[in-house]
Amino acid sequence: MDPSSIRHRIARPAFSILGFAGVALCAALASGEQAGRIIDLTHAFDSETIFWPTEEGFVLEKGTEGVGEQGYYYAANRFRTAEHGGTHIDAPIHFHAGGWTVDEIPLDRLVGAAILVDVSEICAEDPDHRVSVSDFEAWEKQHGRIPSASIVLIRTGFGRFWPDRKAYLGTDERGASAVAKLHFPGLHPDAARWLIDERQIRAVGLDTASIDHGPSKQFETHRALFAANVPAFENLAGLDELPPVGFSVVALPIKIRGGSGGPLRAIAILTDDAAGSSAGVSAPD
Ligand SMILES: [Zn+2]
Repeated sequence: MDPSSIRHRIARPAFSILGFAGVALCAALASGEQAGRIIDLTHAFDSETIFWPTEEGFVLEKGTEGVGEQGYYYAANRFRTAEHGGTHIDAPIHFHAGGWTVDEIPLDRLVGAAILVDVSEICAEDPDHRVSVSDFEAWEKQHGRIPSASIVLIRTGFGRFWPDRKAYLGTDERGASAVAKLHFPGLHPDAARWLIDERQIRAVGLDTASIDHGPSKQFETHRALFAANVPAFENLAGLDELPPVGFSVVALPIKIRGGSGGPLRAIAILTDDAAGSSAGVSAPD
């Protein structure tokens, strides 16, 4: 059992009772009194973990466990996993020849001040929604310009379906034929280019299985981001606990030499700066 899922189950009814005002209050508290609180943005890896329909999934091979002849307790297992599944990073080489491999991504792309754009309402109506420039402009009207070198997180609300494959992916079928049946929100390629060119973002992440929406065939958003060496975080957890501004993200992947991606341990740290200042954090190249 993932402890974060217990917390979500407790938190959700409270939010529905309090409604928008309650959420706003919690956000205000998050940026003030709860400064320093750490939020886990990572789903646990187990046999339920959602992978692309063509992948096997995460396999934990139980190894030694117990007290041996020497009289001490010892446990050690093995695991097997695709690079792209569960909470993970896409390294730029995933869709761009010559892009950084996962071990080559500079750490300043993975750590820094962040913002959260909540598009869960529109995604509830349109599961294939692609987050557009106008969605970001609407956010900026409320919260101010997205600071240069931000890590941009997108809350589609689909994280609440985890680990129900049918609700989360649009299909619980497996294999190559299931790919055409995928339905979930993603980032529009025009918005990706806008975030790169106009807001110089450090990285982008969301709570779906792919930064391109489910029906994508050409994966234009992946290609736009990775041509600019902007990594993507997929299948993030815990986004419903984040305020729009006033937090930093630390998203550190397994350092596979030559890897196109890999399992990611991502966390957010609430700061006492409601403006989400990136002071002390230099812009990435
Ligand atoms: Zn991926």
